[in-house]
Amino acid sequence: MENIDKAVVSANDHIVMQVRFLTETAFILRLTRNDMQFRAGQHIIAGLKGEIDQREYSIYSGENDDYLEILVKEVKEGNISGKLKQCKRGDLLQVNGPFGSFGIEPYDLQTQKHIFIATGTGISPFHSMVRSYPGLNYTLLHGIRFISEAYEHDEYGPERYILCTSKEKIKNQRGRVTGFLTKFRVTNDMLFYLCGNGNMIYEVYHILTDKGVPSEKIISEVYF
Ligand SMILES: Cc1cc2nc3c(=O)[nH]c(=O)nc-3n(C[C@H](O)[C@H](O)[C@H](O)COP(=O)(O)OP(=O)(O)OC[C@H]3O[C@@H](n4cnc5c(N)ncnc54)[C@H](O)[C@@H]3O)c2cc1C
Repeated sequence: MENIDKAVVSANDHIVMQVRFLTETAFILRLTRNDMQFRAGQHIIAGLKGEIDQREYSIYSGENDDYLEILVKEVKEGNISGKLKQCKRGDLLQVNGPFGSFGIEPYDLQTQKHIFIATGTGISPFHSMVRSYPGLNYTLLHGIRFISEAYEHDEYGPERYILCTSKEKIKNQRGRVTGFLTKFRVTNDMLFYLCGNGNMIYEVYHILTDKGVPSEKIISEVYF
């Protein structure tokens, strides 16, 4: 690592410290942090050093970790995610950021129940929030197709993590996250955070507003 450090020419150059595969197509890149300050929920824009193409990735690691992590899912026929999958320890990424205002307000930490609703890698900013704020009052609904996509679910308390699989049967089968939500009882002290694909966010937004949740209590981050 020492030799590689010398090759870093700008604070935007982040070294790949570790690649951790969670499935055949989903992986975590651990990068040097380079003193980057961020709020849990924000994202970076990253790409291979020297290449023009870059994409947004939510920060997966916590505010107090001394490294920076992102959780990436390889998109078939995608451009950048496939290249990131080939990364090895010691490779350089060019990173800009942090960006975005998706995050928790300090005041809400004390007063609100945080209901996180994610599809796929949309769990990433919530992982960062849970890691950054011990004692956070939250419930995390994770909509995925197969159980293998329940990325590092052991990091959330079993009573806090609700898995909704759409293509694989599990005990107490819940089906799609939208189906589960139609039966979910909402209360006035809940704040809803949605992250993932646009269709889910659109559907969930309407389910929640139909249940009487005011739109200012629904905060969303659309991935694609
Ligand atoms: C704010 C923000 C945060 C994001 N955070 C993450 C993250 O933490 N992890 C992550 O894996 N991705 C994240 N994304 C998506 C990411 O930026 C890229 O779009 C994704 O990695 C695909 O890039 P690509 O170059 O491989 O594919 P592209 O060549 O850009 O796209 C190919 C096609 O795939 C679609 N697509 C993009 N993402 C997905 C997906 N996950 N599943 C299915 N189709 C998709 C695109 O809409 C496009 O039609 C985020 C996007 C935004 C806007």
